[in-house]
Amino acid sequence: MEPLNCQPLPASSARSSNFIRDIMVSDLDSNKYGGRVQTRFPPEPNGYLHIGHAKAIYLDFGLADQFGGHTNLRFDDTNPTKEETEYVESIKESIRWLGYHWDGLYHASDYFDQLYEWAIKLIRMGKAYVDDLSADQIREYRGTLTAPGRESPYRQRPIGENLNLFERMRAGQFPNGSRTLRAKIDMSSPNLNLRDPVMYRILHAEHHRTGNKWCIYPMYDYAHGQSDAIEGITHSMCTLEFEDHRPLYNWFIEQLGIFPSQQIEFDRLNLTYTLLSKRKLLRLVSEGLVRGWDDPRMPTLVGIRRRGFPPEALRNFCAAIGVTKTNGTLELEMLEHFIREQLNHEAPRVMAVLRPLRLIIVNYPEDGVEQMEAINNPEDPGAGTRKVPFSRVLYIEQEDFREHPPKQYYRLCPGREVRLRYAYFVTCTGLVKNDRGEIIEVHCTYDPKTRGGQAPDGRKVKSTIHWVSATHAVDAEVRLYEKLFTKTDPDEVEEGKDFTSNLNPNSLAIVRPAKVEPSLATAAVESRYQFERLGYFCVDPDSAPGNLVFNRTLALKDTWARIEKSDAAGR
Ligand code: ATP
Ligand code: MG
Repeated sequence: MEPLNCQPLPASSARSSNFIRDIMVSDLDSNKYGGRVQTRFPPEPNGYLHIGHAKAIYLDFGLADQFGGHTNLRFDDTNPTKEETEYVESIKESIRWLGYHWDGLYHASDYFDQLYEWAIKLIRMGKAYVDDLSADQIREYRGTLTAPGRESPYRQRPIGENLNLFERMRAGQFPNGSRTLRAKIDMSSPNLNLRDPVMYRILHAEHHRTGNKWCIYPMYDYAHGQSDAIEGITHSMCTLEFEDHRPLYNWFIEQLGIFPSQQIEFDRLNLTYTLLSKRKLLRLVSEGLVRGWDDPRMPTLVGIRRRGFPPEALRNFCAAIGVTKTNGTLELEMLEHFIREQLNHEAPRVMAVLRPLRLIIVNYPEDGVEQMEAINNPEDPGAGTRKVPFSRVLYIEQEDFREHPPKQYYRLCPGREVRLRYAYFVTCTGLVKNDRGEIIEVHCTYDPKTRGGQAPDGRKVKSTIHWVSATHAVDAEVRLYEKLFTKTDPDEVEEGKDFTSNLNPNSLAIVRPAKVEPSLATAAVESRYQFERLGYFCVDPDSAPGNLVFNRTLALKDTWARIEKSDAAGR
């Protein structure tokens, strides 16, 4: 491992307080680990990563990066029955997508031999024993927070017998669940995790990497800390529910005299209207309640990627939320604020009409076409301009026209003049209805002197609307998403029901055909745009030449910015 120079963070990278960074700084100052920062990200490959994991990834990779440290990706594959290779590949892809690179790629199963050796060592030291109690009995003997535990009748087995039985457990001589190996610690400890925790269980199951080599598998608590020590992990970050496991983590390290990794707990990310649990997300997928793990309504990293969330925005969000020692729930709007902020900065603007209404400019030449100059991104002057074709027949949004306008409706209506973005002022002179009385066409005249959107006589209009040229526009399918759940806490349910009863039946609406400007005809999958006045959209992987499909990432309205502003005003 290379020596490391700890550089002070530049002021521009000032982030919200982060006690883990403070611990790293102090460990570097005291040279606790020889100037090294080595972290690991340890997903269990039993599902797809979600936004909560993005926070853990940001901390594991991001903090190590800040100190020139290293991060391993370690698959915590100690549970053979739930793990699949499909998940392994997707986890790697999502980490890369977030912008991080692992140094070593390991599996807890790489260490099964070493873990077994160390278990023998603990048995020899009289610190571990083979127990014949069943899982239920072990639970019963463990006691509770108020009742002390009872010692297993097998606790005092002689070392030789333990060694023999453990060897035979490994050799496959006993059925599932018949015996365990337990650490011999303290059945009266106030910390339940120290009441002789199980280290190994018998499980005759094929493992996705080790095949049938093993029929005993280490438990998380035994495997995790020792894997950390093997890899020389200096700062092993995990979520708060492991705080009570830390004494056990340290106990194994002390008994075995191995590398003193330190476990540091931080708060789990929770978001309103969002479930962050692989197990529950798996149910949505397996019961067909969403279209798959990468459904754009899912909080999985593959889902939000498909939805169009930029990875930079996720990193900025994680930097802003920091870490604490108490669990809480953040507003989904706060995450969305960071998405919008990034997209506002990077997304090219284009014009698209979701629910088209024909607009005919009656005084415009029949076959006239002009190329109007449109600004690609007002936030980024370097993004330049493009040409958008304009002609006699356009599409505008149905919403942008009212035959009988209510008060404060400033868009197009009979007799009113409005601006067509980047083009001309037009005045509505008439409309056409079908047999059902629906408006199917609006007629206007245009003022040729207002080309570019300014009147030389200085007259003003109250609104500017977007449009596409009917003959040039390209058809597209647009998928509009709303929140997947109707409750801020999707787990808050009536008796006898579960979170699926809180699914929002209107979380997906499909609009077809929308009309988009021709520059989008060749838009690449995943490219992100702002459809002017409508929101942020990205090209879905279902898209193909001649069959464009867009996802709405988010509408433009930013409630979080409003909340922040009104909070600031109230202060
Ligand atoms: P889930 O309950 O969704 O299965 P998990 O904690 O079991 O999550 P792991 O694959 O074991 O998932 O997690 C890998 C890492 O990600 C762990 O360090 C874990 O603490 C962290 N992590 C998981 N969920 C969150 C979350 N919501 N917020 C922050 N970190 C998380
Ligand atoms: Mg887990």
